[in-house]
Amino acid sequence: MKLVFTAKHPTEAHLIRGLLQSEGIAAEVRGDQLYGAFGELPVLPTVWIREATDEADALRLVGEFLRGTPARRHHHERWICAGCGESLEGQFTDCWNCGGARQATT
Ligand SMILES: [Zn+2]
Repeated sequence: MKLVFTAKHPTEAHLIRGLLQSEGIAAEVRGDQLYGAFGELPVLPTVWIREATDEADALRLVGEFLRGTPARRHHHERWICAGCGESLEGQFTDCWNCGGARQATT
């Protein structure tokens, strides 16, 4: 087990755990039941990964999460050009057909 993240509250810890698991990294939250139980000495929930070999990936994902990068695999989703209707692979930011920029979809 390796500690990869200390959360500010249980919700954040579970978000991180879900994110890691969606990427195939076995992770678990510890300490969330203890949150707030000690009054003046709050125990912060932590996220642990099972395999140390996943550490680099896990830390990268956590880093992206903290920077606000969408956790979902947005960049792998196809998108439709608003200019010409062409269907494009998610890695393209501009339409190869008409040069139109990708529109924000959210
Ligand atoms: Zn286009």
